[in-house]
Amino acid sequence: MTLYRAMVLDTIGTTIADCELRVDADAGIAVRGGVVLARGPFAEMSARFPDEPVETLADGIMLPGLVDTHLHVPQVRAMGGIGLPLLGWLERYALPEEQRLADRSYAEIIAAEFIDQLLAAGTTTALAFGAHFAPAVDAVFAAAAQAGVRLITGLVVSDRGLPEALLTTPEDAYAQGLELAQKWHGTARLGYAVTPRFSLSASEAMLESCAALQRAVPGAWFTSHINENDQEIAEVKALFGVPDYLASYTDAGLVDGSTVLAHNLHPQPSELGVLVERGAAVAHCPSSNAMLGSGPFGLRQHVDAGVTVSLGTDVGAGVGFSLLSEARHAYMTQRQLGERGYDLSAAQLLYLATTAGARALGLHNRIGDLGEGKQFDAILINPWNNPALMGSLRTSDSAEAALAAVFTLSGPGDVQRVWIGGQQVR
Ligand SMILES: [Zn+2]
Repeated sequence: MTLYRAMVLDTIGTTIADCELRVDADAGIAVRGGVVLARGPFAEMSARFPDEPVETLADGIMLPGLVDTHLHVPQVRAMGGIGLPLLGWLERYALPEEQRLADRSYAEIIAAEFIDQLLAAGTTTALAFGAHFAPAVDAVFAAAAQAGVRLITGLVVSDRGLPEALLTTPEDAYAQGLELAQKWHGTARLGYAVTPRFSLSASEAMLESCAALQRAVPGAWFTSHINENDQEIAEVKALFGVPDYLASYTDAGLVDGSTVLAHNLHPQPSELGVLVERGAAVAHCPSSNAMLGSGPFGLRQHVDAGVTVSLGTDVGAGVGFSLLSEARHAYMTQRQLGERGYDLSAAQLLYLATTAGARALGLHNRIGDLGEGKQFDAILINPWNNPALMGSLRTSDSAEAALAAVFTLSGPGDVQRVWIGGQQVR
C-alpha cells in the first residue's frame, strides 16, 4: 500500500449542471492494488495507516486522470493544417497521412508517438479512432497494453467517398474487426470500439455490418462523427434519404448507451431527444470546431435536453493532446456565445475533462474521480516550469481559483506525474 499526501481536487455529481468541486487541501489517499482504499485529511489517514510508506507530493495539485473521448491515432502528425473546412482539411491533411499507416512499421512509430503524447498530456483513458488498416490498429493496442493506458479503439471502416486505399467491404470490416476485438477487447486496460468513419463514407450495408460486429462483441463501444459540417450533413441526408444525420446510424441498428458521437454542432431537436432516450453521449471538441470553422457547440442546448457531453481533443483537427487546453477552448467558446453560451466554472471544466468522459464511456464506477473504491488514475500538476501558473497559484485565494488558473494556464509541460491503476506510468 502507498499513502499519497497531496492537495487533491476532483468533482462529485452526475451532470455538468450539478457537479461540485471536492477539495482536500492536505489529503491522504491510501492506494492498494491500484484502487483508492481510503481518502481523507492526511492527519487522519496517517493515524489510520501508521506503518505504510508515505509519498509526499508537496508542490503540486493532484487531479483525476484526464479522459479524452474523441481523437484519431493516425493523425498525430496531421496537426497544424489551417485554412480549410472539414472536407477540404480531410483531403489535404488527414487522409494522405492516414494512408501511410498501411505500412506496419510506420504505424508502430505513430502508435508510440500517440501513446507518448497521450500520457504526456495527462490523459489516462481515451476513446480514439484507430486506423483503416488492421495491423496498424493491432500496433496501437499493443503499444497501449505495454504502457498501461486505458485505450478504447478500433478499426476505422469506410466503403465509399474516400481514397481507394482507405476503403474496405462490409464483410472484411466485420471479419477484421472481430479478429482485433477477440485479441484485445477486455485484455490489459483495453476495449474495442466499432468505428465507421462517418455516414458519409459508409453505406447502409457497412453500418449494418458495424451493428452486427457490436452484437458479436459484448461490451464493445460504438463511436463515429455526427453533424459536424453543413455540407457533410446535407450529403448524408441525401445519400441515406433520412430526415436527420442520426437516423443514418439508428436505422442500421446502432446507437445505445455505449455510443459516443463526436461534434453534434448542428443537431435537430429530435436528434437530441433520441440521444437522451438511448443514453448516447456527445464528445465536444471545441478547438477542432474552431480550427475547421465548423461552428460553435450548443452546450446549453445539450445540457437542457439532458444529453451526456464529454470532451475530446480531436487530434489532429484539434490543437493538441491536452484536455486542460481543450477545456479552456470549451470555456472560451461558450463565453463568446454571450447569452446563448453556457458559462462554465472551474469545477465544471474539471468535470468535463474527467468524470464526464468516464460517464460517456460507462466507466464512472471505476474512474473519473479519486473517491474510495475508484481506480487510482491520477495526475500531478506542478507549476515549476510555468512562471505564469506559479504566480497565479501563489496568489489564488481558493481551491476554485487555483483550479481556474490551472485550466487557464496549463498544458502538457505542467503534468509532472501520471498514474493509471496505481501504476506510475510517467
Ligand atoms: Zn474526429
